Amino acid sequence: MSRSSLWAQRTIFDVMKEMIRELVSMTEQEWGTYAFSRDPIHKRVSTDLRREMIQSANRCGREEAQKLQKRFGQQDITQLVAALGLNINREDSFGVDNFITFAQFHSPNSITLFMGNVTATQDLILEHDMGEMLQYVDVEQLLTAHEMFHFIEEETPTLYTRTTRIDLWGVGRLRYKSGLICLGEIAAMAFAAEMLHLNYSPYVFDVLLPWSKNEIQSRKLYQDILQFKNVKGEEKNG
Ligand SMILES: [Zn+2]
Repeated sequence: MSRSSLWAQRTIFDVMKEMIRELVSMTEQEWGTYAFSRDPIHKRVSTDLRREMIQSANRCGREEAQKLQKRFGQQDITQLVAALGLNINREDSFGVDNFITFAQFHSPNSITLFMGNVTATQDLILEHDMGEMLQYVDVEQLLTAHEMFHFIEEETPTLYTRTTRIDLWGVGRLRYKSGLICLGEIAAMAFAAEMLHLNYSPYVFDVLLPWSKNEIQSRKLYQDILQFKNVKGEEKNG
């Protein structure tokens, strides 16, 4: 490798680290607004209600993590997987159509992790010297914690993310209500952050996980996400 290409590579590395640094400093409310923007029915929710829902979903995720820690003590994710009777399946490869899938929860109690992406992401963190910035998070445990919340959600019909519904349309007494997918996602991220004691949102991994497979897509997503950073009128609450 020539001196100039080494230099070019190093420059790109630095750019990436700065990008992730930008994301690490984003607040819960900013990430929540991003998550909402991806929900198919988000336009039905006013700005005020959205802010309230983001707070409630985050609280819901954190509270479920605290309940679990109270019930089982401060155990690591692997021990909690066993305590909850969850099955973990690790798959190496995945098809073209679902190559941006990193983990999945299958009812009633199974989690699938796509290890190719987990390993690639861990390598990326090391290569770009982002370990400290990301609090040396274990990507496999992070994905497992996120899916663990979906398991709890499935087991708990009274949970905020399950019971909250918005009116899609209504004629007279006829009402059609729907849940918001993003609430469960926001709560799952808050749950994972609480379980792993992270001081940033695991939503950062929306950009990091697909990076090695599709850098162009990841860079585009990063630009999209930046639009939600420091949005005027959005309160800062961590
Ligand atoms: Zn999820």
